[in-house]
Amino acid sequence: MPTGGAVFSTGISRTASHDTCSVIRILAWRVPPYDNGLYIIIDERRDAILIDPSMGERVALEAAREQGLRIVEVLNTHGHPDHIAGNAAIKEETRARLAIHRLDAYRLDAGRRPQSQIVVRPATADDLIDEGPLRFVPDLDLVALHTPGHTEGSTCFYLASQNAVFSGDVLFKGNVGRVDFPGSDAKDMERSLERVAALPPETRVYPGHGEQTTIGDELRWLRGFRFA
Ligand SMILES: [Zn+2]
Ligand SMILES: [Zn+2]
Repeated sequence: MPTGGAVFSTGISRTASHDTCSVIRILAWRVPPYDNGLYIIIDERRDAILIDPSMGERVALEAAREQGLRIVEVLNTHGHPDHIAGNAAIKEETRARLAIHRLDAYRLDAGRRPQSQIVVRPATADDLIDEGPLRFVPDLDLVALHTPGHTEGSTCFYLASQNAVFSGDVLFKGNVGRVDFPGSDAKDMERSLERVAALPPETRVYPGHGEQTTIGDELRWLRGFRFA
């Protein structure tokens, strides 16, 4: 059985199962100017998955270089410009492939996404995500939870062995993502939040903006949440 949770920054948590002993690390940053969550999940062979480069591509690339990480895949929680801005730089400087939910893939295309002030260099998706397990790094038991509402293809990435969920702009500490953008849907968001609220209460939440929390710490207001 898994023991212990994911550890912030450079900490190490060990997960023992009946026949293997794996070490998974999670690196976390909050990067300016929008306080975006940028995360790297690393297995014991230093294969890594990067979630939402945001505008933090420099710190991520520096960490990868210093620690000898091989970034295998970049995952976007959704296609908003502040989360995808660094995709191109990561793809250019590593061999990483890029994945996003198929319903948000159009947002990677400047000609098709809603207009924004944020400059995003072009980077196209190599892999399109649906609901279900992600096998980009076999040792990392990531599962894509399609949680629409903030955008059509918003996805939470759940790492059960580490009691961790990367919640994008679905759930924040004390708040939820906005549903007044093009492609948002409040009813979908309510259903998505119900799904997230049903994760084990000890699950640590690594959000798309701001401070980390746990599902249990948010349940008081999150359970049965409805937009007014
Ligand atoms: Zn967003
Ligand atoms: Zn955001």
